[in-house]
Amino acid sequence: MPTYRDEVVVLRTHKLGEADRIVTMLSRRHGKLRAVAKGVRRTSSRFGARLEPFMVADVQLYQGRSLDIVQQAESLGSYGADIAAHYDRYTSAHAMVEAADRLNEAEATPQQYLLLVGGLRALSRGEHAARSVLDSYLLRAMALSGWAPGLGECARCGRTGPHDTFVAQQGGIVCRDCAPVGAARVDASTVSLLQSLMAGEWDAVDAASPGSSAAASGLIAAYAQWHLERGIRSLSHVSTALQEGTR
Ligand SMILES: [Zn+2]
Repeated sequence: MPTYRDEVVVLRTHKLGEADRIVTMLSRRHGKLRAVAKGVRRTSSRFGARLEPFMVADVQLYQGRSLDIVQQAESLGSYGADIAAHYDRYTSAHAMVEAADRLNEAEATPQQYLLLVGGLRALSRGEHAARSVLDSYLLRAMALSGWAPGLGECARCGRTGPHDTFVAQQGGIVCRDCAPVGAARVDASTVSLLQSLMAGEWDAVDAASPGSSAAASGLIAAYAQWHLERGIRSLSHVSTALQEGTR
């Protein structure tokens, strides 16, 4: 039987015909998957609600000729309700699944799956600011794909830091000799926050000032936009004064 099982996070869905949906998922072992969920838009559907964005599920799929077919779906984590009830969590989750959707086949590793599940779980629990969960997720997802921004020595010439300019196009923190004229200066506290977000040092992240948090978010958004080619549209809906805190 050409069937297989895997654990998945639903990234997005779109309508197919009268009652079906195409579901795009990041799976633990099979990379990114697109599959048809038949009859899912009928109220009588057995697994409709388990195949909504941000849901984590154990699914069984049947290998179709073009698209695979979802045969079963068991919920492993319903973070959707806790996320959807808060606008900041919802917009952050949306940006996270959109970033995950940008991963190519080689990048869609089990580590990316686990990172996304962990990020959605953290959002649903509300233990940290939603924007910080998103920022940490973006930094670590890019790092897993080999695009970690330089946050210590100059990302361009390698000169030992600390440095105080951040240029997304040059790979992160750069020295003043490498930075183009007019590059934004970054506070030491913001650089330190970026390092904490990357390392998952939540005590330091949670204690950061609103100014540093906003500045770090702006830099991470710029860096993610630059590296994720087409940009992450959802980032524009995440509300914070992005430039506040940069000089
Ligand atoms: Zn340099």
